[in-house]
Amino acid sequence: MLKVEHITKYYGKNLAVDDLSFQVKEGEIFGLLGSNGAGKTTTFRIIMGLLDSNQGNVTLNGKKIDYHLTDEIGFVTEERSLLTKLTVKEQLIYYGRLKGMTEEEILKKMDIWLKKFEITDYRDRKIKELSKGNQQKIQFIAAVIHEPKLLILDEPFTGLDPINVQQLKNAIYELQKKGCSIIFSSHQMEHIEQFCEKLLILVKGKTVLEGYLKDIKEEYQKKNIFIRGEVDTKSLEQIEGVLEVSCNQNEYEVKITDASVVPRVFEKISKYKITKFVVEEPSLNEIFIAKVGGSYDA
Ligand code: ATP
Repeated sequence: MLKVEHITKYYGKNLAVDDLSFQVKEGEIFGLLGSNGAGKTTTFRIIMGLLDSNQGNVTLNGKKIDYHLTDEIGFVTEERSLLTKLTVKEQLIYYGRLKGMTEEEILKKMDIWLKKFEITDYRDRKIKELSKGNQQKIQFIAAVIHEPKLLILDEPFTGLDPINVQQLKNAIYELQKKGCSIIFSSHQMEHIEQFCEKLLILVKGKTVLEGYLKDIKEEYQKKNIFIRGEVDTKSLEQIEGVLEVSCNQNEYEVKITDASVVPRVFEKISKYKITKFVVEEPSLNEIFIAKVGGSYDA
């Protein structure tokens, strides 16, 4: 289990991370959210042992993260770090050796991963000859080839097409099943929403929301109703507990204060011809905007 306890980091007088604590259990995918400059990269660097915090502790399975323990961590950072003149094979041997693996082990694992990502043919190609998406897959393989206990993924899906996103997601689920703890950061809320059971939102280095996505959604009482039919905006707006009505391509989105408003809306529209009436939880994006008090800076 990864334990981050009360870490604080100043750059000069600038407070980048402010008394941050969280835990990621084995086999858990944890989402770290925050707008630009919120402190995510600084937190990752502290966890990876690349940066010292001014206060606080980080431990992995009870041990303080030092030089030896970094072999148990894998990371895909925002700044991609492949050596583009090397071939895929040379690159993976390089990273694997850095993590203490033998060449035989590396080649065995490499073939499994290349097959999984359907890029076996690129084994002896130079990195610079690969597409951006395939380079990203190699970056990912380099991060996991040594089967880390903790995997840090900073925006791993940027620039990938939907098929490659899915391939990468499947690979991440596979690692999760093997017990790897995964911290995942993305500006794309739908990825976090789909992917992370538990999450934390940082604003200016401070935690503004933390918990299981399910609980966060439950506690946030507002809901949305989607209606298709011969209704009109005005009659919906007049219902008590309706906060906002918008119409997009003949579908009304009705924001309500809480679930108790649903029967009132239903009653009001029952005299109209309705083809759709669906009550949904708010999106994470909506909750983020409500909590952070501004639009998410993607
Ligand atoms: P982004 O989403 O843009 O990557 P982030 O959440 O990763 O942002 P950080 O890069 O951790 O945020 O930055 C947190 C704060 O610390 C910002 O105010 C940033 O300007 C500052 N900061 C980051 N690195 C340094 C540094 N090396 N020296 C001084 N200040 C820094």
